[in-house]
Amino acid sequence: MTTPVVELDGVGKTYPGGVVALRDVTLRVGRGELVAIVGPSGSGKSTMLHVIGTLDRPSEGVVRIDGHDVAALSDRRLSALRASRIGFVFQQFHLAPGQSAVDNVAEGLLYAGVPIRERRRRAEAALVRVGLADRLDHRPHELSGGERQRVAIARAVAGEPALLLADEPTGNLDSASGAGVMDLLWELHSAGTTVLVITHDRDIAAGLPRRVAMRDGAVVP
Ligand code: ADP
Repeated sequence: MTTPVVELDGVGKTYPGGVVALRDVTLRVGRGELVAIVGPSGSGKSTMLHVIGTLDRPSEGVVRIDGHDVAALSDRRLSALRASRIGFVFQQFHLAPGQSAVDNVAEGLLYAGVPIRERRRRAEAALVRVGLADRLDHRPHELSGGERQRVAIARAVAGEPALLLADEPTGNLDSASGAGVMDLLWELHSAGTTVLVITHDRDIAAGLPRRVAMRDGAVVP
């Protein structure tokens, strides 16, 4: 069997102040899976995504990403793992306002140590891939919500990460744009990227190959 991209074993997370956001979460996600993470607000979905994305360390338990035990890595090696293996997409897009689509995407490759020309070339290729070939020089305010999210997805996948983590990527979009973004996540999945997507949209969740349901910080069996 190949190494799972995500392995959580007995993972707990308690925030300072005592809020228990995750309790005893055990989860495996295989290479190339497309998984919906569902559950009511406050059930721990974002916390779990942050822990999987190595943006936050767990209070207990073991997190392995692409076979690497996160606890064994220094902050520097963890940043390198994150930059090279993980792409993030958020509900709020998080694009730099004054910068063109190409520059926004190229920025995502900075930490991978790619030279500037090559960053631009890869950024353009990623934008073509998400269907924005004719929007390369547009700045975020010149793009629709759905197009902005496509730029954010292009940025997340330009470095060809093993894992794409999306936190409510359709939350700020009308249903047609949201459907376009989901189609894009399907395409990436078909091309072999492992995708975890938090959604509260029942129809979206129902259409995905696998659902992980959370309640009170735990995965519902
Ligand atoms: P969801 O994404 O399912 O809405 P979250 O993971 O955001 O759930 O939150 C889980 C619980 O942890 C909630 O009770 C929330 O209030 C709490 N929480 C989230 N982030 C923090 C934080 N940075 N500090 C303290 N408590 C937090």
